[in-house]
Amino acid sequence: MSTAIVVGAGIGGVTAAVALQRRGWQVTVLERAPELGEVGAGISVWPAAVAVLEELGVKGVEKASVQSKPAGMRKPDGRWVVSAADLGMELPVMIHRAQLHDLVTAEFGPAVTVRTGYDVRTVTQDADGVTVNGELRADLLVAADGIRSAVRGSMYPHYAGPRYSGFTGYRGIADVDLDDGGGETWGRGQLFGFARLIDGRYYWYATANQPAGATSEPTVFESWHDPLPRLIAGTEKILQNDIYDLTLPLVPFAQGRIVLLGDAAHAMTPNLGRGACSAIEDAGALVRHLGRTGELRAALTAYDAERRPATTKLVKRSRAVGRLGQTENPVLCTVRDGLFAVGGKLVALRARK
Ligand SMILES: Cc1cc2nc3c(=O)[nH]c(=O)nc-3n(C[C@H](O)[C@H](O)[C@H](O)COP(=O)(O)OP(=O)(O)OC[C@H]3O[C@@H](n4cnc5c(N)ncnc54)[C@H](O)[C@@H]3O)c2cc1C
Repeated sequence: MSTAIVVGAGIGGVTAAVALQRRGWQVTVLERAPELGEVGAGISVWPAAVAVLEELGVKGVEKASVQSKPAGMRKPDGRWVVSAADLGMELPVMIHRAQLHDLVTAEFGPAVTVRTGYDVRTVTQDADGVTVNGELRADLLVAADGIRSAVRGSMYPHYAGPRYSGFTGYRGIADVDLDDGGGETWGRGQLFGFARLIDGRYYWYATANQPAGATSEPTVFESWHDPLPRLIAGTEKILQNDIYDLTLPLVPFAQGRIVLLGDAAHAMTPNLGRGACSAIEDAGALVRHLGRTGELRAALTAYDAERRPATTKLVKRSRAVGRLGQTENPVLCTVRDGLFAVGGKLVALRARK
């Protein structure tokens, strides 16, 4: 039986493990954290990623999610820029991260072994296999160890890697009773979005421009329109993460028997809500190519040829939307909001036709 080591048990790593298991691989997942899990926040999952999960036998994602509805965009004082008209767009489902992670790991069978508290420090490869930390061997290594991937660092020591976006992100789950469909509110250099989860609580996220490494609170949003202050007040634990993406051009995702997946390959800013979805789609593509050809290197080359251009586009688009959302220039903000208002009306008109 072919053997694989998956480094990292984030959403990308666990999905890759389930996908390889389904193709008959013996998989060892190595995770640095003491236990498996995900942070207390929501996540949007787009239809293509839901389809991959279903194909891999991960059931119940839609049942555990809320289908997003067109929610629109507001100004900080609550005035609508684009109202909640049906824009005829494909929309994601919203789910708690931990729930999504649990649904995937629930599919681990006897072919998957998980070692938590295991820090991957060295990876070497030869004609017959890959060796981790000088002690574990496998035919294939999937590096799903996130944006600061140590495996990617050993493959491409001269690659610049993470690039600070200029803004930090706040996230939380609020226990509040609301009569509001959610949506996004864009200000000057800050934005705030929220959506309902299946258990009735609300996931919210916000961004603000600031230097990397600064610790801060989302206090600016306390003066924004209702219900944003209530969402913040109703949150027990607020997460703060500086937002990075990967320097372009992205490095090749495959090198010999090692393949990059998820944020290790193509971390993007969260502005399109596509990073984890792309990791899930990577896992689907990887096993599809492994199934098409019995030759490992050819499969990994085909995976790179498919996924690198597709995710490069998303890194670029996310970065562009991030810049637009974070601009502090008042003239640009007015032009931006005006264009969104007109664009929203045109799209709604076309959708109605
Ligand atoms: C604010 C915010 C909001 C977002 N919202 C969305 C959204 O709505 N939809 C969406 O699709 N995406 C979203 N994303 C992006 C998404 O979170 C990431 O793309 C996704 O979590 C990446 O998954 P991953 O498995 O590739 O990496 P990670 O989740 O980073 O997992 C990497 C794992 O590897 C482990 N690890 C690292 N180094 C080692 C090592 N040396 N040895 C062993 N283990 C190691 C880590 O402990 C970790 O568990 C958002 C991101 C942010 C920051």
